[in-house]
Amino acid sequence: MRYPVMRYDVLIIGGSFAGLSAALQLGRARRRVLVVDAGQRRNRHAATSHGFLGQDGVPPGQIIATARAQLTRYATVEIREGLATGVTGDEQGFVVETTGGPAVAARRLILAGGVTDTLPEVPGLAERWGRHVFHCPYCHGYELDQGPIGVLATGPMSLHHAQMLPDWGPTTLFLNGAVEPSAAELTDLARRGVRVERTPVAGFFGEGADLRLADGRTVPLAGVFTLAQTRITGPLAAELGVDIEEGPLGQCIRVDAMQQTSMPGVLACGDAARLAGSVALAVASGTMAGTAAHRSLIFTA
Ligand code: FAD
Ligand code: MG
Repeated sequence: MRYPVMRYDVLIIGGSFAGLSAALQLGRARRRVLVVDAGQRRNRHAATSHGFLGQDGVPPGQIIATARAQLTRYATVEIREGLATGVTGDEQGFVVETTGGPAVAARRLILAGGVTDTLPEVPGLAERWGRHVFHCPYCHGYELDQGPIGVLATGPMSLHHAQMLPDWGPTTLFLNGAVEPSAAELTDLARRGVRVERTPVAGFFGEGADLRLADGRTVPLAGVFTLAQTRITGPLAAELGVDIEEGPLGQCIRVDAMQQTSMPGVLACGDAARLAGSVALAVASGTMAGTAAHRSLIFTA
């Protein structure tokens, strides 16, 4: 490892909603902060972001651009485009290797690198992610204007997903061989008016959300919802050895109410530190991580 030449109070890995919120609090406390960001926001495929108060319907890249512009006012906050590639150390100090600049030494570390979605392998799905295919009904359900909705099953949690969606439009659950509901579950789905389709899905059809089935039928749809598996982006959390929680849809870093991980000096926020995230929740937890990191610099040796 090269000798670290830059020293900071806090290094933040990930400069999106969570990481920039942490940086804002620390900058306002006049602490020296470096944010390293690889620019792969989870919602980069979505044209608009919904459900974040005061920014509803705004392109997510615009929210980030405004946040970054406002952060330039704080002389002690730096943002580096690049990837954090290695980390060593403990609460006495961490050393982080990054691309795009020299290695960095910092007294506290905030992990805000988000999660990566593993999408079901259905032809045409990946290109439609964030435009016609979504996971979160609160984020993208309303805009479908109560048109027909498909839920593409990926496992048992999809039964719960399908029961939610009729509030946004008439819903068909495509089992696609991923799950077989019990008699009781079929009753629950029927009670919510969910239609169940057993014929496997061959792929998407046309430009929008319409699905083509294995028997040649085409089902017109306004939008499709599916549950992706998520994993913490990159190997650094595992390399550090922070405790990781496994849920039915993926993993997250275990944190307490102050966003402190199992490892002293390391905090985590945003999607990386909760099982189902959103912009508002990432901003909230980033705010908490920033203030908690600041307090730990004052009250811990
Ligand atoms: P992210 O926004 O994912 O950002 C993490 C950042 O860290 C990235 O820039 C990444 O490149 C960087 N990074 C990771 N590892 C490293 C490393 N080692 N070194 C340097 N940088 C690194 N939520 C809503 O509230 N409303 C919506 O409308 C909405 N729409 C969505 C649509 C889609 C298709 C998806 C998938 C998600 C949507 N979400 C929405 C959820 C929202 O995107 C996330 O909750 C939010 O982006 C989490 O913010 P974050 O800061 O934790 O992580
Ligand atoms: Mg972030």
